[in-house]
Formats: sequence, C-alpha cells, structure tokens
Amino acid sequence: MLFETVNLKLKLLSNGINFSEEFLEHFQNQTKHIEKRRAYGTGDSVILESSIHTPQEMILDGQIITAANYNPSSPYQIVLAQGHPALKHGSKTIKITFPSRPISYETQLSNGELFETHLTVYGNSTLGIFSPGHCYYFNNGRECKFCSLGAARENFSDHKMRIKGDLAGEAVEIATKVESGRYKRVLFNGGTIPNYDKGYLMHLDLMKRVKERNTASNLDYHLISMPPKDFRLFERFKGLGHKLSMSLEVFNADLFSEVCPGKSQDYTRPRFLSAFEAAVEVLGRGNVYAGFVAGMEPLESIIEGIEYFGNMGVVPAVAVFHPDAGSHYSTKARPSVDFLNTLGKKMSEIYQREGFRPLIEGSGRNSLDTEAYLGGFA
Ligand code: SF4
Repeated sequence: MLFETVNLKLKLLSNGINFSEEFLEHFQNQTKHIEKRRAYGTGDSVILESSIHTPQEMILDGQIITAANYNPSSPYQIVLAQGHPALKHGSKTIKITFPSRPISYETQLSNGELFETHLTVYGNSTLGIFSPGHCYYFNNGRECKFCSLGAARENFSDHKMRIKGDLAGEAVEIATKVESGRYKRVLFNGGTIPNYDKGYLMHLDLMKRVKERNTASNLDYHLISMPPKDFRLFERFKGLGHKLSMSLEVFNADLFSEVCPGKSQDYTRPRFLSAFEAAVEVLGRGNVYAGFVAGMEPLESIIEGIEYFGNMGVVPAVAVFHPDAGSHYSTKARPSVDFLNTLGKKMSEIYQREGFRPLIEGSGRNSLDTEAYLGGFA
C-alpha cells in the first residue's frame, strides 16, 4: 500500500492538481480544513482570485502528505463525491483528507496582530517562521528562477516582513498549548540579505528567542538558511538548533549559475561546497542537509549531487519543482513520475546506507524525503 500511495504522491507532484467548481464552493464555506497560505511562494501555476480558498495539502491514505499545487490542466481533480472531497482521475475516485485548520489561526497576539501573520502551519505538524520576507536577489533580477517569493509577498500574503522573537515565541506557545501533541518542530527560513553572516545570525537569534519562550515543549528547532561566510559561526548552531539545511538547489555547476544567479555570483558554488564540509565537521554526519529542487537538471546530475553529499555525511533533501505563477519558470514542465521515482529510490539507498532521517519527517508536502526514508519507491 505504501508503494501505491507514494506513487500517487509522485503523480500529483508531477501534474499538479485541479479543483471542481463544486469542491471550491464547498471549501470556501468551511473552516475545518487548512487553507493555503503563501509565506514564501505562490505554489500554483495559475492563481485563482486571492479571495478563493484552496487546500494547502492533502493527506493520502491517512499518512502521506502532499501539496495541492493548482494546475487547471491536471488530469487529477479534487471533486465532491456524495458531499465529501475526493480525488478523481479518469473514472477512479479515491477518498482524501486534509490537515485540520489550526485552532490558533485568527487568534490575536498580545500586540493585536493575528497569529497567522507571524507563523504558518506547514505540512500538518510543522510551525513555519519565514523571516525576512524579502530576498535581495530580487532587487536586480538575480533570484532563483523557480522562486516566487517576490510575487507571493507583493500580491497574496499578509505575513509580516520581519518576524520578532517575542511575538514568534508567543505564537509558538499558543499553538502548542491549544493543540498539544500536534506540532513536532519549528522551522525557520527566510530570504537572503547581502551580509550572509548577519543573515544567518539573525535566524539564530530568532530561534533562540522562540526557544527561550517555549522551554517546556518538546519541539525540535530546524533552520533552512544560506550559509554564513565565516564558517566559525556554525559553532553557534550547536546546542541551539537540531538540524541545519542549506539549499544548493542544483548540483551541476553551469546549471547552478543559470538557475540561481544570485547565489552563484555572490556566494559561489565552491564556497557552498566548503560550507557543507565545515558544517558537518562541527554538527556531525546526518545533521546537515543539502536542499535540491528536482526538475532543474538531468537525472544523472542530481543523482551525482545526492551521492556526493551522502558520502560527505550531508543528508540530501529534495523538493519537487512546481512552476509557480510569478517566477521565471512559471511555464517550465514539472519532472516526470519516472524521474522522481528513480531519484527517490536512489535517495532511499543513501538514507538507509548512512542512517539519515528526513528534516521534517512526515511533513514535507513537496519533498521526497520522508518517502525515501520509509523506502516507499517501487
Ligand atoms: S535564495 Fe533563491 S529560493 Fe531563497 S528566497 Fe532568495 S531567490 Fe528565493
């Protein structure tokens, strides 16, 4: 059953998903299930009016979480079947569920602002804090070509540009108090600022303040960040966070410069590779992650990349490319099911061989990590 469910996730990520009118009307008028919020990307190839609610994720077979990335041309459609949401493909219809809407959404924090403008629930069990909500690569068109942070923040988001530690800490406290046991981790992430050391330290400071406010909880604290230029700063993560992820996105050197011009010109690929080595030395094998986007380079090249990092003790974390409205790659094709399945199998081998675990286990809606860890690729 796991193979089938994971295969369905691949099909959905490889095609995106459509919604019937009837389903959209039903979803608009309900508050039981979480609606899509856009803290760092549009996520959809076409955006329905911003007032229309669509699901953020689906849960397949009660266990595998997958993104609901809208694509009006997808042969997979969420419909209403006897009044309940279901996934339809051809003549086949299967039951699906959605993560529940966090009880804390619409709660006012002590300064009167809404909980969800500071914190987004992601993949059912992750509390996501995205700050800053701007990336300087957008200032002169050097952003990563798949990234839609600019469009998301300009048009579809009410998230704060800069999240403050006291309010984020308060939001985490509220979330865990009202839904005890649901949330497993806090994930910090954000756009890049020109001073890489300062940007990295800002994330650590935010993490520290959120953690100080929530000492009684069992949450894990993870960070996705550009690496600092001063590698001695990796020491500061030790004892504070659990897992550190840095996104190279693309392994092939030429394609890295093509897809991620800002990262390639200002940080550079050689410095990135050295940063991973330095981070593993400080934090240990299995505690540092290399983020990739599957669909940016040929299969052989991303496989070479995940092998390279696996051997180094760095866990490959792979997100599946989705063409986002507002990004340079809004019309680029998604990777095929075969591509993803072969890649997933290779990841499984590496995870098993090295004893790796996923960064956000059970929560990565666009990622193959949990499925690789579970050995879900046939
Ligand atoms: S570093 Fe790239 S992916 Fe990250 S926010 Fe900036 S442009 Fe987007």
